[in-house]
Amino acid sequence: MIRTAVIGGGAAGFFLAVNLKEMMPEMEVTIFERSSKVLAKVEVSGGGRCNCTNSFAEVRDLQQVYPRGHRLLKRLFKGFDHQDAYAWFEQHGVPLVTQDDECVFPKAQDSHAIIDCFLRLAVQYHVNIEKNHKIDALSQLEDYDYIAVTTGGSPRGEGLRWLETMGHEVVSPVPSLFTFTINEPQLTSLMGLVVEDAVAHIPGTKLQGEGPLLITHWGMSGPAILKLSSQAARLLAEAGYQMPLSIRWTPLKESEVQEVLQETAIREPQKLLGTFSPIALPQRLWAYLTEKALGARSKIRWMELNKKDMNRLVNTLANDIYQIAGRSVFKDEFVTCGGVALSSVNPATLESRAVPHLYFAGEVLDIDGVTGGFNFQAAWTTAYTVAKSIVTTNCRQGVTK
Ligand SMILES: Cc1cc2nc3c(=O)[nH]c(=O)nc-3n(C[C@H](O)[C@H](O)[C@H](O)COP(=O)(O)OP(=O)(O)OC[C@H]3O[C@@H](n4cnc5c(N)ncnc54)[C@H](O)[C@@H]3O)c2cc1C
Repeated sequence: MIRTAVIGGGAAGFFLAVNLKEMMPEMEVTIFERSSKVLAKVEVSGGGRCNCTNSFAEVRDLQQVYPRGHRLLKRLFKGFDHQDAYAWFEQHGVPLVTQDDECVFPKAQDSHAIIDCFLRLAVQYHVNIEKNHKIDALSQLEDYDYIAVTTGGSPRGEGLRWLETMGHEVVSPVPSLFTFTINEPQLTSLMGLVVEDAVAHIPGTKLQGEGPLLITHWGMSGPAILKLSSQAARLLAEAGYQMPLSIRWTPLKESEVQEVLQETAIREPQKLLGTFSPIALPQRLWAYLTEKALGARSKIRWMELNKKDMNRLVNTLANDIYQIAGRSVFKDEFVTCGGVALSSVNPATLESRAVPHLYFAGEVLDIDGVTGGFNFQAAWTTAYTVAKSIVTTNCRQGVTK
C-alpha cells in the first residue's frame, strides 16, 4: 500500500487529499491536523460565506492580484485554474455564484457548503483524518512514501523553523491584507462613507491599490486599501507601519480632474463650490476636501475659483497626503506574506529541492494574493498540482508495496 501523509487539515490539505484519492483510489491518504478542528479558516472565510475563487475577468496582470507568486501561479494555472476550480466545486455538489465584483461564493452563501463537501468526500474516499496530531519532524512519518506540507501561514514563523532546518529557504513572514490607522479626526468623523473608485498609493513607489475605499472610525479600509496593504506588505512592515499615503479620490488623472473643474467653473459659475461637486463623491467628503484645500475660500462660487485655488483643489483630489500611523486587522480576510521560498521547490511539481517526495501547497509557500478569492484559488491550484505530481511520480517510479 502506497501511503501519503498530508500535514494540515485546511483548505489546501483537504483539496489535495480528496483529489489524490480521485486520481489514485488505492493510495492510503492521511490528513494530520494539529488542532481539534479541521477547515477552521474556511469556516470563517469571506465573513462566513467563503469567497472561494474569482472570475479573474478584471485581472489583466497576475502580479496585480498575486504580489508574491504570480510567475509560479501563471505556470500552474495551465494545469488547474479558476475555471477548473469553479467546475470542480459544481461537479462535487457545491453550486457557485459570481457576484458583480467578480468574487465567487457558494450559492448557499455559507462556507459550510464547502466544508460539508470536503468532509463528505473524505468519508466517501476513506481519507484518514488524525486530529490533535501535530507534525514537526519527518521522523514522525517514517512509514509514508509521500508527504505534503499544507500547514498554512505562520505569522510568527514558528511553523516554518522545522522546514528551514531541513534545508528549505524561508522568507520571513509579515502580515498582509490589513487596514490603515490614520489619526485625522476630521477624516475619521466621516466614517461609513464609501468612495466607489479611488486609488491609494505609497508616494515615491509604484505600489498602489484601486477600487472602493471606505472611511472608518480608525482610518481607511476597503478593497483599494487592502490591495495596497498586500502590494506594500513588506515595505510597510519594515517601516513599522508609519508611512505617507496618497489618495486619488477619483479614477480621473490629475489633468482630467483639472479639465472637469475648469468646465464646471464655466458651466455652473453661480453654484457654491463647497456644495456642488462635479466629481462623483459623497457630499460630506466633497465638503471636507474643498475645505481642506481652500479653507475659508471653500465658500466661494465656482466663478471665483482662481489659479491658486484650482491648483490646491486638483492636488487635494488627485494627491491627498495622509500619514499611516499603524495597521488594523481586516476581519473578513487576512493572510501571511512569506513562507517557504519558491526557490526551494521544483516549480513544475512543488516537490522540495532538499527532500525527495516532500511537497508543499497552500499558504505555507511564499505565495499570497489580494482579497477577492485569490488566496483560496492559490490553495486549490497548488494542492491540485501536488496531488498530480505525487501520482505522476508514483507511476513513473512504480513505487509498490
Ligand atoms: C478570517 C479569514 C478570512 C479569509 N477569507 C478568505 C476568503 O474569503 N477568500 C480567500 O481566498 N481567502 C480567504 N482567507 C485566506 C485563506 O483562508 C487562506 O489563504 C487559506 O485558508 C490557506 O489554506 P491553507 O490550507 O494553506 O492553510 P489553512 O487553511 O490555514 O490550513 C492549515 C492547517 O494546518 C494546520 N497545521 C498547521 N501546522 C500544523 C502542524 N505542524 N501539524 C499539523 N497541522 C498543522 C492548521 O491548524 C490548519 O488547520 C481568509 C483568511 C482569514 C484568516
